[in-house]
Amino acid sequence: MSGLLDRLLETGIPVLADEPLAGYTGLKVGGPADILAIPRTAEEVAQALSLAEQTGAQVLIMGRGTNLLIGDGGLRGLVLLIGNGFEGDSVVIHESRCIAAAGIKLLDLLDQLCQAGLSGLEDLFGIPGSLGGALAMNAGAYGVEIWPRVGWIEVVLPSTGMQRYPGDEIEYGYRRATLPRGSAITRAELVLDRGDSSRIRTRCLERLADREKKHPLEWPNCGSVFENFPWEPGMDIEYENLEIALGVYFSRRTLEDRGSCLLPAWRLVDACGLTGRRIGGARISTKHSNFMINLGGAKAAEFAALIELVQKTVKETFGIRLETEVRRLGEWNEELRPLA
Ligand SMILES: Cc1cc2nc3c(=O)[nH]c(=O)nc-3n(C[C@H](O)[C@H](O)[C@H](O)COP(=O)(O)OP(=O)(O)OC[C@H]3O[C@@H](n4cnc5c(N)ncnc54)[C@H](O)[C@@H]3O)c2cc1C
Repeated sequence: MSGLLDRLLETGIPVLADEPLAGYTGLKVGGPADILAIPRTAEEVAQALSLAEQTGAQVLIMGRGTNLLIGDGGLRGLVLLIGNGFEGDSVVIHESRCIAAAGIKLLDLLDQLCQAGLSGLEDLFGIPGSLGGALAMNAGAYGVEIWPRVGWIEVVLPSTGMQRYPGDEIEYGYRRATLPRGSAITRAELVLDRGDSSRIRTRCLERLADREKKHPLEWPNCGSVFENFPWEPGMDIEYENLEIALGVYFSRRTLEDRGSCLLPAWRLVDACGLTGRRIGGARISTKHSNFMINLGGAKAAEFAALIELVQKTVKETFGIRLETEVRRLGEWNEELRPLA
C-alpha cells in the first residue's frame, strides 16, 4: 500500500493515510481507510484510479457517506471521496437542462433547480448525500426516482478513462443502478420541466417538513436500513401472520388482487415488536422503525447485530427476508460481528 501512497502523493491529490472513516459517514461509525484520497477534478479521479489499478489496490468510491455502514476494521485499499468542492460543485443550467458535478450535495443542487424554476425532482428534496451517491443508489422518495431525469452521466473507468453514457443506456431499479464496473461518476446532466419557482419551493419545503416530522434527524443515522420487500403474486410467505399484524389490506386475497407491490419494511420491523430495540450504542428508532440511530460511541458491529436480529425475527414471523438498503462494507471485528 505504501507504493500506492507514495505515487498518489507525487500527483498532488490530497491524500490521508490510515484515516478513520466514521467522521465521513452519516452513522458516524467505521474504522480507518488504508488510504483516503480526495480528488478535486475528474482528471485527478482518473489518475487515482489508474494508479490503484497499476498497484492492484481495491477501490471504494464514496460520496457523502449517508448510505454506508463501514466495519470497525475499516477499509483496505483506496477510498476515493467525491464530495464537497469536487469540480467546484459546479452547476450549469441551460433552458430545462442542468449539468452538475457529482460531489455536490443533492439538497444544494435541488435548491438551485428550484431557483431556476425547474421542476421534476422536488420530492427528493431533503435526501442527504451527493448527486453521485443519488445516481449510484437511484435515490427516490414519494414514488419519484432520479434516473428518469438523467440525460447522461460522465464516469471515469480505471482502464479506459472518461466516458459518457446516455441515461437510457444505464439499467436501474429500486435503489440501484447498474453502473459500468469500477466506475466513478464525475458529472451528470438532468433533464427537468419548466415550472413556477414559488410552487416548486412550496413542494420542496413540504417534503422537507414531512421528513423532519418522520425521521430521527437529531441522531446520526443512515436513512432507511432495509429495502421495502418486493412482494410478488404466488410468493410463499406467512400470510396469516401478515394479516394479523398489518391488517386486512395485507391479507393474501387483497395482495393477490393488487398485484406486485412493496411491503413497507418499517411496518414489518414494528410488527415484530423491535421498535426501540438497542444493542450497545445502536438503536432502532422509536420515531421510524426502519431507521437505526447512533446513541453515541456505537460500534459498526452493534449495528450489524441489530440488522441480523431484525432479519432473523422478520424471517421467522413473516417468512420474509429483508435486504439492507444501507451498503455494508469493509472489515469487521470477528469477535463482535455476529453476521454469517
Ligand atoms: C436521514 C436520511 C434520509 C434518507 N432518505 C432517503 C430517501 O428518501 N431516499 C433515498 O433513496 N435515500 C435516502 N437516504 C439514503 C442516502 O442519503 C442516499 O442513498 C444518497 O443518495 C447516498 O448518497 P451519498 O453521497 O451519501 O452516497 P454514499 O453513502 O457515500 O455511497 C452510497 C453508494 O453510492 C456509491 N457512490 C457514491 N458516490 C459515487 C460516485 N460519484 N460514483 C460512483 N458511485 C458512487 C458508493 O460507492 C456507495 O455504493 C437517506 C439517508 C439519510 C441519512
